[in-house]
Amino acid sequence: MQNRLPTPIPTNPGLTLKKKPADPRRDLLKAGESLQRAPAPVSEGSPYLVDPDRLGEVVGADEPSFRSDQLREWLYRNPVLEARDMTNLPGDLRGALSHRLWPFEVEEHQSADRGATHKWLFRTGDQAAIESVVMGYRTRTTLCVSSQAGCALACTFCATGQFGFERHLQAGEIVAQVAYANAFLRDHPLRNSPTRVTNVVFMGMGEPLANYPRLRQAIGLMIGEMGMSARSLTVSTVGVVPGIRRLADDPWPVNLAVSLHAADDELRSRLVPLNRRYPLSEVEAAASYFFEKKGRRVSLEWTMIRGVNDHRTQADRLAAIARRLRAHVNLIALNPTPLSSDMPSTPQAIRRFAAALREGGVNVTVRDTRGTEIDAACGQLRVRSGRGS
Ligand code: SAH
Repeated sequence: MQNRLPTPIPTNPGLTLKKKPADPRRDLLKAGESLQRAPAPVSEGSPYLVDPDRLGEVVGADEPSFRSDQLREWLYRNPVLEARDMTNLPGDLRGALSHRLWPFEVEEHQSADRGATHKWLFRTGDQAAIESVVMGYRTRTTLCVSSQAGCALACTFCATGQFGFERHLQAGEIVAQVAYANAFLRDHPLRNSPTRVTNVVFMGMGEPLANYPRLRQAIGLMIGEMGMSARSLTVSTVGVVPGIRRLADDPWPVNLAVSLHAADDELRSRLVPLNRRYPLSEVEAAASYFFEKKGRRVSLEWTMIRGVNDHRTQADRLAAIARRLRAHVNLIALNPTPLSSDMPSTPQAIRRFAAALREGGVNVTVRDTRGTEIDAACGQLRVRSGRGS
């Protein structure tokens, strides 16, 4: 059953359905003052966009140095939706942060699966769209984060790809998605799941390995500042070969998921245009390098598209690749998107495909389609909001 929340008015990120308070500097501007002359807080913008070692610039030069540690704690270890709840900070600092705590506003918030799934469409000051989905399970709470606003790689079946690239997200904008989810969960704990984000998957909008420097920084912050374990982070890529190799060479034991979707170059180049640049053999070699360096099994993602990639020949070729890589395969039924007439494979075809892989000695999971009733597939909330590009 659908459990769609009423669409909130674009508002402040605290999810309270009230209009965003006017910028207090507006009156000054009306009176002919310039923005520069307004009594501006020490540093403009969200503190998530500031290097944690430089939070002194946010709290102000007159403040004792422990203030920046306190703020750091609130931002990363113990996030709250509203700056007013940062109880050990002085009132004027909380006031100065109140309208710029988050680097985005909540444009939409929906929940599904009887409250076990929440999805947010965030909007940054420059109108870039960011989506995140939190999914509660019995032993873990997984957050799917975006690494770019939009995506340049144009996979035919992906809603984000259909609407093109907006911009890279900054590391702070990636990490703030995790902090926001934790702040939300603090006020609205999931009933049968951990009340903090335990796992992060880079499977929201964008290609994380096409935004490598910020991805790297974001992973560093999740581990160093938020205290997450690298083993609970999964980077998903459509096959950016140099990025896979760089990730393999970086020190953290993160997980890698490769979105394969086709097991021969002809079909894969049709579905995933990047395959023309990095063909299957190179993607496989890079995944193999990752496995050797990290000793962590790669997973292969396969979106099941009716009559396109759900045949026995594809299953057999995929099984051969998965065996060579000792990889796990995740099958997921296509979530239909507005600009494509592709349909999901039938449940029967998915069962047959999974059985063929198992017969071929491959470990397979058929992923549940969490949140389909709230368009939780890649880029779909943004598309529905009518501001797709
Ligand atoms: N660019 C990265 C991460 C974002 S997409 C990547 O491609 O891996 C995350 C996953 O969602 C990928 O496996 C992608 O293939 C899958 N996906 C995209 N659109 C989908 C759709 N319409 N239905 C089902 N899965 C989809």
